[in-house]
Amino acid sequence: MYDLKNRRIFLKRSQYPNLTLEDLYLGAAISIYSRQLKVVEYGDNFTKSHFENQRERTFAMIKPDCYNHIGKIIDRIIQEGFKITNIKMHRFTVNQARQLYSEHDGKQFFQDLVNFISSDISVGMELIAGNAISKWKDIIGPANSHTARVDAPQSIRAAYGSDGARNAVHGSESADRAAREIDYFFSLPGNTATYSNCTCCVIKPHALTNAGRIIDMIISEGFEISALQMFNLDKPNAEEFLDVYKGVLPEFSGIVEHFTSGPCIAMEIRQENPVESFREICGPLDPDVARSSKPRSIRAIFGIDRIQNAVHCTDLPEDGLMESEYFFRILSKN
Ligand code: ADP
Ligand code: MG
Repeated sequence: MYDLKNRRIFLKRSQYPNLTLEDLYLGAAISIYSRQLKVVEYGDNFTKSHFENQRERTFAMIKPDCYNHIGKIIDRIIQEGFKITNIKMHRFTVNQARQLYSEHDGKQFFQDLVNFISSDISVGMELIAGNAISKWKDIIGPANSHTARVDAPQSIRAAYGSDGARNAVHGSESADRAAREIDYFFSLPGNTATYSNCTCCVIKPHALTNAGRIIDMIISEGFEISALQMFNLDKPNAEEFLDVYKGVLPEFSGIVEHFTSGPCIAMEIRQENPVESFREICGPLDPDVARSSKPRSIRAIFGIDRIQNAVHCTDLPEDGLMESEYFFRILSKN
């Protein structure tokens, strides 16, 4: 790799174990020796034709009837081998729901569908896998949840759907629709953050494969997730967000570096005494300490070491609001 700005070689052919083939897809933000790069195109036509099928994209969405099962559904998605390359919680307006489902405009169920989709929060995702569109359709099952329970008992709709309309999840019909739905959903303005009685939790890059389980723990412990979005932090952002730990934590620079090594998922979390009560379920900063003193905490279960300790959580009660604002007001572009 050649550094155009400084006119010198940046990287010779070499091994870089922190990065796998899995991490390379169009649009991916990757970090190599602390330098952040974006994958914008295939190197040549051979690579393109070889990988394009393995990197099919689809749009998946958890509908408003399934808030309680968000974590379980995300975990199923990951276990089935999809890569979640973008995710965001959103509350649709009636008009936005009409736009997303424009292919059904004029059908007899259209108004009910639009009312249902705009009734509460949804979680939209861009998923990548080989044959992602048909694979996801198979996993979600037929539109009618009763039919799903008979014909596809292992499907997501069989497990979590209620009827023909409230059927837990959405999946795109074609590559063309997937591209349109992804572009549409992720350009919708605003987010669901409330900036009240809140704390901030960030699932760190190494723990993204456990994101579903972590989210499920948070919801089943009675916390409300009031905003959720994937971010790629660059070094200045990570340093700014973690500023209070500078000179306090010996592994500060390691933590910053880990935060910039791949995508993370930020959440606004609510409850009474949100910061203190949420710190309890995260457990002590050091996962080894957590495993002996709080074996059921998030860091005990999903943490590796003091840097890769699964989640960041707000430490000081007065910072909960500020940290939520940092992600959902300052960094969130739309
Ligand atoms: P799918 O979501 O499986 O692609 P469709 O594209 O046919 O199914 O329909 C879109 C959504 O509209 C369905 O997921 C469901 O929520 C709703 N819907 C479809 N058919 C009906 C119906 N007959 N009555 C009520 N709602 C329906
Ligand atoms: Mg459809």
